[in-house]
Amino acid sequence: MDRPRITIFDTTLRDGEQSPGCSMNVQEKLRLAQQLDRLGVDVIEAGFPIASDGDFEAVQRIAGSVRRPIIAGLARACIGDVERAWQALQGAARPRIHVFLATSDIHLKYKLRITREQCLEQARNAVRHAKSLFPKSVCADVEFSPEDATRTEVAFLCQVVEAVIAAGATTVNIPDTVGYSMPEEYGQLIRTLRDKVAGIERVTISTHCHNDLGLAVANSLAGMQQGARQVECTINGIGERAGNASLEEIVMAMRVRPDRYAFETTVASEHLYPSSQMLAEITRVPVQPNKAITGRNAFAHEAGIHQDGMLKNPLTYEIMTPQSVGVPDSRLVLGKHSGRHALALRCEQLGHQFERRELDEVYRKFVVLADRIKKVQDSHLLELIHDVVTGAISHNDAASQARKFPPAAATLPLPRAAAAAANSSSSDLHSAQVSASAGQAQVSIPFSDHHSEQEDYLWGV
Ligand SMILES: [Zn+2]
Repeated sequence: MDRPRITIFDTTLRDGEQSPGCSMNVQEKLRLAQQLDRLGVDVIEAGFPIASDGDFEAVQRIAGSVRRPIIAGLARACIGDVERAWQALQGAARPRIHVFLATSDIHLKYKLRITREQCLEQARNAVRHAKSLFPKSVCADVEFSPEDATRTEVAFLCQVVEAVIAAGATTVNIPDTVGYSMPEEYGQLIRTLRDKVAGIERVTISTHCHNDLGLAVANSLAGMQQGARQVECTINGIGERAGNASLEEIVMAMRVRPDRYAFETTVASEHLYPSSQMLAEITRVPVQPNKAITGRNAFAHEAGIHQDGMLKNPLTYEIMTPQSVGVPDSRLVLGKHSGRHALALRCEQLGHQFERRELDEVYRKFVVLADRIKKVQDSHLLELIHDVVTGAISHNDAASQARKFPPAAATLPLPRAAAAAANSSSSDLHSAQVSASAGQAQVSIPFSDHHSEQEDYLWGV
């Protein structure tokens, strides 16, 4: 009950969107922001308004229509940026200006070409200016990030943090911009700031960790243990270079191990998988199959257990249920005999609620596809959804789908699979995969087939 609450700051639309191959248009950002709202994040960093007109418009649209979470706009520590961010946030119910300035010597010397004194002055002035833009009636919400904090001399970092707090910052974020820190080291840095900086108890300390050494989540958790109460993260861990801390992993670490991380969040974990799928569908960047929590193999053994009936209690291998993170029931196989209701349900589980007309369109495409590939996977469905949502024109569904989803005719190497092919008993769970030519060794498998992979997986346990 009295566990400290962690503010989940999602930066999928800013840090994530900046990463190669992950750019999104305004409409796509708005859809994802609405999903993040359903997911229950506290803060959505909607973009970097000065960066482009598209970014500005996205922040403005999201600020105007997503009302529950705080909407943040990023700004470099200069008047023009701060004002542009504020302009974009005008319609927000709860706006936040997020100001950043690098503080490490290497950034000051080679990138910004300013002295530490100038850096201190610039940070202070930008925060003060951001603060002054909020009307008196509104509690000013200003976040400051000393970029490359983990490679900044600690004494200077403390000085900068103290200065921005005095200037009115309400959240101080400590970025491990280059993903260089180790967990104990990062935790220690948060501890040091709490011990040494005057006024630190008045602000929220935040983490922002990159994954260059695969430690973004570990570092974020270490920061929380030492007093950070906001975590910056992204869906699927997308972000600059190797990515940012993965939101779903942080949230589930807290859920599964409250004995170690006794914190509360407002994230509705059953929306994690739909959010992950929606992002993959929008960016066309697939989720790594073995990705923790949301990868398609993350719960692969579960179906293996069901099919084999060998293991009697899921707790033997399961530290969380697929349902708890919104992974749809994999036993519900979508094929051409599936009705509109089953299709609508699966779409919903993937984060898409359709009106009648749109659902008709998805259904029409679905039937054409199901007729051809027998078993429709989530990845296929997301392609169809993408076409309908983006209004992709297709005069000939069958022809365009044949290009998109080539049937991967293959001979299964495993004796078990060959036996399955020979045995075309309709009660067999795998019968949906076995093509009309079953009985010969030729089996038609849609690509990224879950069941065959799960079966292989079971052999490796
Ligand atoms: Zn970052």
